Amino acid sequence: MSIAENIAAVRENIARAALEAGRRPEEIMLVGASKMNDAAACREAIAAGIDALGENRVQEMTQKLAENAYDGAPLHFIGHLQRNKVNKVVGSAALIESAGSNELLRAIDAQAGKLGIVQEVLLEVNIGGEDAKSGFSPLLLPEAAEYALSLGNIRVRGLMCIPPVADGPHGSIPYFEKVRLLYVDINEKMYHNKLDMLSMGMSGDYEDAVRTGATVVRVGTAIFGRRNYGAPTHSIPE
Ligand SMILES: *Cc1c(COP(=O)(O)O)cnc(C)c1O
Repeated sequence: MSIAENIAAVRENIARAALEAGRRPEEIMLVGASKMNDAAACREAIAAGIDALGENRVQEMTQKLAENAYDGAPLHFIGHLQRNKVNKVVGSAALIESAGSNELLRAIDAQAGKLGIVQEVLLEVNIGGEDAKSGFSPLLLPEAAEYALSLGNIRVRGLMCIPPVADGPHGSIPYFEKVRLLYVDINEKMYHNKLDMLSMGMSGDYEDAVRTGATVVRVGTAIFGRRNYGAPTHSIPE
């Protein structure tokens, strides 16, 4: 299957899940998680009409930006972002989906201010309370959402989550549902219902995410095929 065929198949699945849930398929943004796939693969996805591409490693993103890999589609940063790399991502990525601490928000705001831009972000929620994952704990999220409102060079568009590895089919749904409730709550109480992005769901669970209210899904393997983690050029995780 080609990348274009895979994208068409994923779109069809998204449409079916959306219709089942009484939603319009056009409401859902498909982000191709293109990590460890080269510039040619990114271009193929863009030619096939992907809505955005998502990268999770700063070095790889910078390299592929230099190759014009993302021309024609918005770029999302979806990975763990270290504060000392913020200046490489702010302004380059249309959306930073993984703003997961107040320190990071402050650093993004400062860099955006320097560039004279407003950086769009999603607040990442560590919905499983996992030590190994970044993101705000659900308890601290309202405070973080309030803090982000006070930063003039940041615009929060919504929330993002990566739930724990599901045990069994549909195992992500309870986590998606919790994040959706947080999203609705913050949106009503603090953001005057201006938030429009709820980023949940990957290759294994994007249909469940759509049924649970996601407006953004991040799909890698189902579009680009299995990643080769043995590849020497990208073997150092950030
Ligand atoms: C890689 C990645 C995805 C996509 O994962 P697949 O299971 O390959 O679809 C989604 N979100 C983030 C943050 C990722 O790093």
